[in-house]
Amino acid sequence: MDRVRVRFAPSPTGPLNVGGLRTALYDYLFAKKHSGDFILRIEDTDANREVPGTEKYIIDALKWAGISPDEGPGIGGDYGPYRQSERKALYKEYAEKLIAEGMAYYAFDSSEELEALRNSKMADGIPSVKYNYASRESMTNSLTLNQEAVEQKINDGVNVTVRLKMPKDRIISFVDEVRGSVSFNTSELDDKIIMKADGMPTYHLANIVDDHLMKISHVIRGEEWLSSTAHHLFMYEALGWEPPKFAHLSLILKPVGKGKLSKRDSAAFGFPVFPLDWYDEDGNLQFIGFKENGYLPGALMNFLAFLGWNPGTEQELFSMQELVEAFSMDQLVKSGARFDIDKAKWFNQQYILNTEEANLLSLVKDFLTDEQKNKSDDYLSQVVSLMKERMTTTKDLGDIGYYLFEKPRDYEEKMIRKKYKPELKNEVMAILNLLDGLENPTTENIHNAVKGYIEEHELGFGNILPLFRIGLTGTMKGPDLFGTMELFGSSESRSRMEEALIRFDKIYEAKQSSNA
Ligand code: GLU
Repeated sequence: MDRVRVRFAPSPTGPLNVGGLRTALYDYLFAKKHSGDFILRIEDTDANREVPGTEKYIIDALKWAGISPDEGPGIGGDYGPYRQSERKALYKEYAEKLIAEGMAYYAFDSSEELEALRNSKMADGIPSVKYNYASRESMTNSLTLNQEAVEQKINDGVNVTVRLKMPKDRIISFVDEVRGSVSFNTSELDDKIIMKADGMPTYHLANIVDDHLMKISHVIRGEEWLSSTAHHLFMYEALGWEPPKFAHLSLILKPVGKGKLSKRDSAAFGFPVFPLDWYDEDGNLQFIGFKENGYLPGALMNFLAFLGWNPGTEQELFSMQELVEAFSMDQLVKSGARFDIDKAKWFNQQYILNTEEANLLSLVKDFLTDEQKNKSDDYLSQVVSLMKERMTTTKDLGDIGYYLFEKPRDYEEKMIRKKYKPELKNEVMAILNLLDGLENPTTENIHNAVKGYIEEHELGFGNILPLFRIGLTGTMKGPDLFGTMELFGSSESRSRMEEALIRFDKIYEAKQSSNA
């Protein structure tokens, strides 16, 4: 096989969503698996649809995701420039060549004429009306006008476009790496515009010219481009070029119901579908990102890798390098993959558990309030190690574990109603005194001391420990109790318990009077 060169070719018409990012990931994995090149090409031939800031967003998102291109805008490479708008001069020659070969023609139709074409057959109840082998006979183009009129039109420079001359009734077949053998009848394909009136090529022409000139070996892209591939192959043949291999990826589907995952799903369900936050031109946050919601890039990429691919084994956790080694196009699935945010959370949790604590701390810090961040690094490291298993994202520590930074805002009353009796106050105080006296209050020493006291006085763990859990953190769902005691130290533990006991007494009194 010639050198594997795979390009990711987004149009800067909006921020890159997880669908685009997954395409980029598969592009990258395939390229790296075969020791090839991963190229970023910005397809910005349609200035009207361009959204400022999206090219930067794409580059930042790829960088965060850990799939940095070998060639691309701002990176360089032997096949640049990598922005199509900077390659404009290149494309005309090939459009002219296609015209000379009789595979394309000039079309001069005004927007009114095109509108009329669209409406004409709609009225007869024929839905898909196209500029094609049949209708082109009655339109304003170089096939219907004489030479002189054509030259005149070109000189006037009004509505000068170039269209592909798709033949009637020819079968174009190819073997798609995901779908297998695919065929199109050219009678069903329209005469796509390949050069626009503004002198810019359309996606179709620019795409094949660049794939050829950049020596792209494999085109891996979304399935929405499947039918365009027939047009592309038609041009490759007309220009006498060897086409690349094609792989069309299935869609990422909505979490519920049918259809493609969209940004509306993000708004409706409150989870991100974009890698990074996206702000509109007025600086308002328009779409939330995985990064800013506490997802680790490795976890997101691992999750995305599995949306449409599987290694054929039970293994689910893969580093990027392992994904590169395991990836193969044969294991791409033909059907759409449902976007399951719970699965993304699961991956994230696994990645959090496997992240070294010092790194995790610096990730978590980004999301703590200024007040929470004021704690010493030592304290914060202990918090991270206590809460690691309970975090789904690096964002939620400050929320779900807020009580490690401040006194509980509330206490779970049910357990207190069940377990607390004023007589137990003395036992609580005795245990706090015991903590005061510990020379080396490690989790283990605290555990042993408390356990010893409870056993010695035959109090029963289940009668005492819940009081401490709730008194110290407000909840039964907090982290390891003795670890929490070590974190707080004896004086903070005492002050929390004293405050809690006042509440516990009130809860007890309320219970007594309602029982009376
Ligand atoms: N510019 C196209 C897009 O944004 C690229 C499609 C392709 O990879 O050929 O989807």
